[in-house]
Amino acid sequence: MNDSVIKELKNIFKSRLLLEVDDRVSYSYDASFGQYMPDAVVQVLSTEEVVKVVNIAKEYNIPLYPRGASSSLSGGPLPVHKGIVLDFSQWDDTLEIYPEDLIVKASPGVITDRIHELANQHNLMYAPDPSSSRICTIGGNLAENAGGPRGVKYGVTKDHVLGLEIVTANGDVVKTGGNTVKNVTGYDLTKLIVGSEGTLGIITEATLRLIPKPEDTLTAMVIFEDIVVAGESISKILSSGIHPSKMEILDKNSINRVEDFRQLGLPRDADAILLIEVDGNKKVLHDELNEVKKVLASLNVTNVKIAQTKDEEKELWEVRKLVSPAIVKSGYTKLSEDATVPLSKIPDMFNKVNELKEKYNLNLVIFGHAGDGNLHPNLIINMRDDDEVKRAEKAIDELFKFTISIGGTLSGEHGIGTMKRAYMKEELKEAGLNFQKLIKQALDPQNILNPGKIFPEKDEQRIVLKNE
Ligand SMILES: Cc1cc2nc3c(=O)[nH]c(=O)nc-3n(C[C@H](O)[C@H](O)[C@H](O)COP(=O)(O)OP(=O)(O)OC[C@H]3O[C@@H](n4cnc5c(N)ncnc54)[C@H](O)[C@@H]3O)c2cc1C
Repeated sequence: MNDSVIKELKNIFKSRLLLEVDDRVSYSYDASFGQYMPDAVVQVLSTEEVVKVVNIAKEYNIPLYPRGASSSLSGGPLPVHKGIVLDFSQWDDTLEIYPEDLIVKASPGVITDRIHELANQHNLMYAPDPSSSRICTIGGNLAENAGGPRGVKYGVTKDHVLGLEIVTANGDVVKTGGNTVKNVTGYDLTKLIVGSEGTLGIITEATLRLIPKPEDTLTAMVIFEDIVVAGESISKILSSGIHPSKMEILDKNSINRVEDFRQLGLPRDADAILLIEVDGNKKVLHDELNEVKKVLASLNVTNVKIAQTKDEEKELWEVRKLVSPAIVKSGYTKLSEDATVPLSKIPDMFNKVNELKEKYNLNLVIFGHAGDGNLHPNLIINMRDDDEVKRAEKAIDELFKFTISIGGTLSGEHGIGTMKRAYMKEELKEAGLNFQKLIKQALDPQNILNPGKIFPEKDEQRIVLKNE
């Protein structure tokens, strides 16, 4: 970046322009892997500042990379083509609730859990609950269309956004949607921006939808001797008329990693455990779990433990929250996939993952949002072991292709980012991918908004974890 750019940025951001190597290194990675140094970082605090930096980027043709808490598991905020990182994590001053309208307005850097807490104070609920909600920002959730355990009943981020303020690649401030649940005035630009991974517009404010908080919850832990039977039971439970609010699975490897990390008395011999939560009217929750038990009994699964107290329930959900930290503790690189399949194909997916684990001799764990077919096969790789890295690349390649072949999708919630872009054509086919490219070209003709994400780079054929 030339001196005039630096001078202009300095005038706007003063001490919030970061140019030192130490600072820039902190912005060179996210929660996936791969490291790319930005030329500069600006800590943005207002829509006006976003407009100014977009206008500079436009004039000098500089890539911009919006960034929230950098908890992305797909390489979303990585500055892959150098340029300027826009750090939104400091911009969290607006968090306003309008309980009578069931809405919340938030600036992009607000941590998701703050929205949960505020809604809760008014006996309301903001439903999307990514497991990273203690650290991630609402801007990042919107850009990735984040999901979470409650997705099985309440959907994902896009189902709870009424309106957005965005800054376009042209530097215009545009409002999409509004404050009402119904709104069909023109194209649904809100849904176009949600999940666009910072490539179509920069989100500067969101109007989010709240719902009444369910009166109570009840949780059960189901212990399975065979993970494939666990897969069968998910589809059976969901098609039996019961609508759980959460349904999360942990395989044997995940159970043992959590147990090593924090001794909670989990069944180390089980092939899988399923955590099931039902929510709603207090009087019917036990009846609903009894119905679940009947469905499970028809599959000869009888080892079901229902939490007797709120503390026990909290402990069961803590188990799920501990999976990622427990895996990370191994010290190796954790590669988290989120291939998502139709419910009836969950058993096929478990069989495939087991096959890949054996075939490529890999340390692989599976956990995730089983209730919506959104599984998280996680590979634990020693990146210094070139042979292991190559085997992992082959396994991921096979997994992506298999997922698509059974009617699934590359990503249920983590986004495409850099990690899955090589497979976009495989899923969307040529015409589908070109259609998406047309949208990108129309809205960002200079390709300054988060370049290198979603669309395959030239000649890219498959995932490469480490260049030779
Ligand atoms: C332990 C762990 C558990 C997780 N669990 C879940 C889960 O259950 N469900 C789930 O969906 N994800 C999960 N994730 C992934 C991650 O937390 C989500 O993708 C989250 O939405 C990212 O938010 P962030 O603030 O960290 O955004 P970042 O990682 O900083 O950025 C993510 C994307 O958003 C873009 N972006 C950020 N802010 C803006 C903005 N203001 N305008 C436009 N674009 C913007 C970035 O360019 C990037 O493309 C998990 C991650 C971890 C580490």
